[in-house]
Amino acid sequence: MKDPDQLKRFLFTHNPIRGEHVSLDASWREIVAQSETKGKALTLLGHALTAATLLVETLKIEGGVSLQIRGTGAIHLLMAEATSAHTIRGIVRQSREFGDENQLRQIFESDKLVITIRNKAGNPHQGIVPLDGDSISDALQAYFDQSEQLSTRIWFACDEQSTSGMLLQKLPTEEQDKDGWNRILLLAGTIQPKELLELKAEVLLHRLFHEETLEVFEPKAIEFSCTCSQQRTREMLVSLGKSEINNLIEEQNEVAVTCEFCNANYSFDIVDLEQLFLEGDDLPLSKTRH
Ligand SMILES: [Zn+2]
Repeated sequence: MKDPDQLKRFLFTHNPIRGEHVSLDASWREIVAQSETKGKALTLLGHALTAATLLVETLKIEGGVSLQIRGTGAIHLLMAEATSAHTIRGIVRQSREFGDENQLRQIFESDKLVITIRNKAGNPHQGIVPLDGDSISDALQAYFDQSEQLSTRIWFACDEQSTSGMLLQKLPTEEQDKDGWNRILLLAGTIQPKELLELKAEVLLHRLFHEETLEVFEPKAIEFSCTCSQQRTREMLVSLGKSEINNLIEEQNEVAVTCEFCNANYSFDIVDLEQLFLEGDDLPLSKTRH
């Protein structure tokens, strides 16, 4: 049996290549339970969450990474986030059935994957990657080639119980062993989805790379957790602007906001809503009430 909800980093001792293996299990099932989709949409969400978890670790971010695809296709929204506190959350929205399209551009009717990196210090950084191919791993490999100039390969496997992945990355160091990267990619290419989903990281790594020497680091536990809060919801309402809030007050006398990621409910009554704009703003909301 594998170790659930863990990320493990590893290094090839004789080659400048690093890797990560991640398995999301209970954390993934919580997200599946809240999701209203099945099939391909759910698989793509699983891949995106696995990818976001791998990216936070690979890019050594103190903060978080989100992957987002928005389009007008059968699946119109995919959002997956992972943080350096080892939490994940994500949503996928499907508006209609679709046939056997494989190309992500057709499924989403979008041509880009947006990668947002939030570091604790500094402004968020956004990278836009063309949505080529039939897997999010294709888009991510292109991202690493372009923005990091690091050859990277990623494998995913996902079902309703688990979503798992493995990443290999060639470090920018002179290789003694000229064929090392190609040889290790060939070995990694024999990986089966079932092995990724079911095997303990060490067992899988041994099966793939038993002729190489690896150093495997201490695992990091990953869990589902949402970053929403009453305060953040309040800030979101303020960002809607005063006239929008006035309309809401006139319509319903209170505002209930449900978090899309975790279904938490935040409600604001008329007193709360009036408070939103009291600081630093002059027109009291009550003027527009009837
Ligand atoms: Zn939430």
